[in-house]
Amino acid sequence: MRHVAYIGNLTRLAVELVNGDGPSDLRREFFVQHRVTEPDADSLAKLLPPLHDAVAAVADGGPITPVNQLLEQFPPVLYVSTHDESGGAHLHFAHDGESPIAWLGRSCAAALAHVICGDPDVTVGRCQADGCARFHVDDSRNRSRRFCSNTCASRTTVAAYRARRKTTPND
Ligand SMILES: [Zn+2]
Ligand SMILES: [Zn+2]
Repeated sequence: MRHVAYIGNLTRLAVELVNGDGPSDLRREFFVQHRVTEPDADSLAKLLPPLHDAVAAVADGGPITPVNQLLEQFPPVLYVSTHDESGGAHLHFAHDGESPIAWLGRSCAAALAHVICGDPDVTVGRCQADGCARFHVDDSRNRSRRFCSNTCASRTTVAAYRARRKTTPND
């Protein structure tokens, strides 16, 4: 995995966790590659509040404090790994085989810190659909992503269409 792709993918992992989604293919692959087990609900409950605040800070473009708090709680361990034979060397922010919460905390904290400082690979946004509290990772060319999913995008399109029809006099 390329360095930038690694940061982008760790950011996707952070957003997936905060959105409360079940393990994606990306998460499974990451855990296998880095010998990390799936965290149990109790330990995940400890990570999620500070992780949520950090993801929200990145999505809103600040304040920086929650990201620094996450870094302080889960200090990254920086080293270069070559376990990915096809992708070459990339930065790791935690040791392989660590406890899942420590590994996730360190890795996500480092990735979110890069993104809030303007790493060019991805940005994080909040879903613009009414009543949706989910975040999304935006890797589109012009950073135009607005919704967490196709469901939210089409729900919003339908609502806008209905609202327009209501205001048409001959309807
Ligand atoms: Zn790796
Ligand atoms: Zn949404």
